[in-house]
Amino acid sequence: MEHHPSKSQNRLQDPSKVDGITQNPLSAWFLGPKAEHADVWAQMLMNIFNDYIHWRRNYFPEDPIIINRTKRRQHEHWFDQLDTELETVLNQLKAHFPFYSPRYIAHMLSEQTLPSVVGYFAGMLYNPNNVTDESASVTVPLELEVGKMVAAMLGYNPETAWAHICSGGTVANIEALWVARTVQFLPFVVQEYCKKHQLEFQIRTPNKARGQTVSILEVPSQTLIALKSNQSVRILRKLAHYLIYEKRQVPEVVLQEINEHVANSLFNVSKRGLFSILNRLSLHPRIYVSESAHYSIKKAANILGYGEDAVVPVPVDTRFRMDVRALRELLLHQKSNEYTACVIAVAGTTEEGAVDPVHRIKFLRDELNREHNRSFWLHVDGAWGGYFRSLFCHPDLAKKETGGMGDVLQSYADKLDVRESFTITHQGKTLSPPIDISWRDPETYGAFLAFPDADSITIDPHKMGYIPYPAGIIAFKQGIVTEHIIQKAQYISEEEGGLHHLDHTPIIHAVGPYILEGSKPGAAAAACYLAHKTIPLETHGHGKIIRTSVLNTRRFAQYLNHHKKLFRYLDEQVFGKQNTSKFPFTFVPVYDPPDTNIVCFVAVPMAWHDDTLVRVDSSLAELNRLNQMIYDRFTIRNKQDTRRSLYSQDFFVSRTRFMVSQYSTKSVSELLKMLKVSKADYKKEGLFVLRSTVMNPWHHQAQLAKKDYLFDFVLSLHEETREIRDLMQSKIM
Ligand SMILES: *Cc1c(COP(=O)(O)O)cnc(C)c1O
Repeated sequence: MEHHPSKSQNRLQDPSKVDGITQNPLSAWFLGPKAEHADVWAQMLMNIFNDYIHWRRNYFPEDPIIINRTKRRQHEHWFDQLDTELETVLNQLKAHFPFYSPRYIAHMLSEQTLPSVVGYFAGMLYNPNNVTDESASVTVPLELEVGKMVAAMLGYNPETAWAHICSGGTVANIEALWVARTVQFLPFVVQEYCKKHQLEFQIRTPNKARGQTVSILEVPSQTLIALKSNQSVRILRKLAHYLIYEKRQVPEVVLQEINEHVANSLFNVSKRGLFSILNRLSLHPRIYVSESAHYSIKKAANILGYGEDAVVPVPVDTRFRMDVRALRELLLHQKSNEYTACVIAVAGTTEEGAVDPVHRIKFLRDELNREHNRSFWLHVDGAWGGYFRSLFCHPDLAKKETGGMGDVLQSYADKLDVRESFTITHQGKTLSPPIDISWRDPETYGAFLAFPDADSITIDPHKMGYIPYPAGIIAFKQGIVTEHIIQKAQYISEEEGGLHHLDHTPIIHAVGPYILEGSKPGAAAAACYLAHKTIPLETHGHGKIIRTSVLNTRRFAQYLNHHKKLFRYLDEQVFGKQNTSKFPFTFVPVYDPPDTNIVCFVAVPMAWHDDTLVRVDSSLAELNRLNQMIYDRFTIRNKQDTRRSLYSQDFFVSRTRFMVSQYSTKSVSELLKMLKVSKADYKKEGLFVLRSTVMNPWHHQAQLAKKDYLFDFVLSLHEETREIRDLMQSKIM
């Protein structure tokens, strides 16, 4: 494939370039498909281990040697046994899916970066427990630093946000909803206090401008539960402030009284439980998230006591993004006894990589504030797509853009210049006119640029961060949420819950009291820290991985789109000149172009019409069978599948099934029309879809070395699909 790098005057400079040499080269960051950097890795890993040995030996050098040589010789049998067992496991691991390979174009799995692996290895040897700095004096500060780096990438103020590492996106999502739930009932705690003491404490409801307030005693439950999150989060502090500075009460007494009140409040959700409070208020929670939501959202609703029925699936548009007009209708037509517990935007859906328009949800929230005196907690589930923000981080982009939203997006698009022009070539033959791809979609840009408007964001280092498991991150815009969450455990920290000082927020030493999990690996913190330190979370750092992934994905989608026109050539390549298929077919992406780096596509039967391919009708059952059979040829089902071993499996793909229980017929109606599938059939059996995550960092580099895995994948898809089509047809006849 030829490359024509575009020359844009505007394009952002790589600040890491010194004398024309890129100091930050993507191909240094990973081991390489053939372990090209093996020597560097081996040396670093050995160095870490040697260093660790010295650390042990230098600690009280005069302490005795306990296991002497003679003794050690007696252990030989046990070591032999371990060796055998280890070898067995190593042998078994060779049947593992080759995630690192450019031939693996399937699930959200890929390479790991060198800094994250050596960071993890070093951390693992010392084995710190990041529950508290007493058991992880080095890696807890690293975790807090990682939190700041990621908060900055997401567009939050790293000094006032709160972000920490957890086991993954699932726990991050649960924690976001848990914190949102805690914050949401605080205004009731305060109202209860004010009723008891007959205080005309003034608060700001969502439709009030700065400086306009009403007495909390007059605010109905429906409004109190829908305050802006920054008002709810601060409401206890504001009450304390009011009592001290306006009512002239003694600060220590005020803080103590408030803390006591909170502890005993009927509206303290941590103590009373959700059921008791909702009963008291006669309110029913609603959580809005698109039909493409990850199933962890239902888990969260389940665990937090909302119940999975509280999750309202919002229809998606033809590009699998949340339909914000539908969300608006749902929110405006809420029953009088319902309230919004959370609205969740997915930035990079697990199945399709689609990005919900976070900015439009933010505009909708503004409208609701203004016109209906209601706000909501906005959570972004960026477990998959969160790292795409790194592409938008560059010193020259931070400068205030002038003009409207459209101008800003245009300016970003020009400066980022994520585009490429190529012609499809194979074995020296040019197969297409020049094709331009460019990722400058204002809706996707708008969504990522609106991240700072969200109250919380989930992001997974162990997905698009290319960092080993387990590593997820949850980030909260307002770091002071921590003071409402804290659990006391004297043996790990002396940190206490509640308000202590009005003028500063809690300084976190132990992480454990503020989060869902307990013990957790300091190794993950070391991995994230080293990775983010050496592959900065900005346009010319991690953004390079994002950029290449996006372009490769669009290129792959173009190959699929061009497949029809290349059919004869591909047939010839595999099956010889005289042998054009009587049962042609092609591949159709479920939406195009992809928002991020996942392509879902369906193989569909075609027919010759003169010299071009046209769609023919086929039953959904037939379509699903075809695609299922293709999938079977591009995966290894289980170890017993001796027919094919890893080494004869040349490409991998994943799959999913769109079901009516998830995607309503309305949401997929365009897709069904395109595939000529009836709604009734879809309802009955759902649509089997092939799915490729194009996140391998090597595709582009390989193209430069004249090896185009993505094109070869299409060739391989073609070959297998033709065989299957021929097989299916011969059975029918
Ligand atoms: C993967 C994913 C999750 C869950 O993350 P885990 O790390 O697997 O727990 C949540 N949301 C989205 C959108 C995801 O892609």
